[in-house]
Amino acid sequence: MARRFVLPKLVVATHNRGKAGEIRSMLGPFGIEIVSAADLGLPAPDETGTTFEDNATLKALAATRGSGLPALADDSGLSVHALDHQPGVYTADWEGLTRDAMVGMRRIQDELAARNVARTDAARVATFHCVLALAWPDEHVELFHGTLDGAIVWPPRGSGGHGYDPCFQPVGETRTTAEMSDAEKNAISHRGRAFRMMVEACFG
Ligand code: IMP
Repeated sequence: MARRFVLPKLVVATHNRGKAGEIRSMLGPFGIEIVSAADLGLPAPDETGTTFEDNATLKALAATRGSGLPALADDSGLSVHALDHQPGVYTADWEGLTRDAMVGMRRIQDELAARNVARTDAARVATFHCVLALAWPDEHVELFHGTLDGAIVWPPRGSGGHGYDPCFQPVGETRTTAEMSDAEKNAISHRGRAFRMMVEACFG
């Protein structure tokens, strides 16, 4: 049985503006005061884990230890099946030092092309993952994992969302997640799904 969240304030443990914005809008209806780790000047910890769960947990614990407040962290990424599920937990690293999503999207496309599979549909199958870690100041942690299946498209399309959204088309859709409104994306996304599991378990 998950622990209920009854505190008035929460740190969103991310320095990624796109993710912080999505999480803030999803937490909006719960009347909780939200501050981000960046607002508090907390350093971003090194993501030394080898799973989304490990990295979400270490980010949430770093933020709760640094602030004394409960913290919510997101670790997410894209698994491209024909690339042995890369970039996975290294999705942000594929964006290079300047964290330019176009660099990461092009690398995925180039690696698919190098394997000579770029044009077959099956080769383009991919899954977005999101793990949310909710940590309390006593270091109790609850974890929630959401996924979204789809395909890598090229060239990238759309200007909404963030990160790799312009090259990701969900199963059953003709648009990329960057061509959807925030509400449309949240309704189906890996993050939206993890978030709804968390709300049901801890905020309901
Ligand atoms: P993290 O901050 O270490 O969890 O890295 C997440 C990586 O996945 C970053 O490169 C993000 O751009 C990417 N990412 C996570 N969620 C999404 C999404 O909803 N759309 C597009 N890219 C995402």
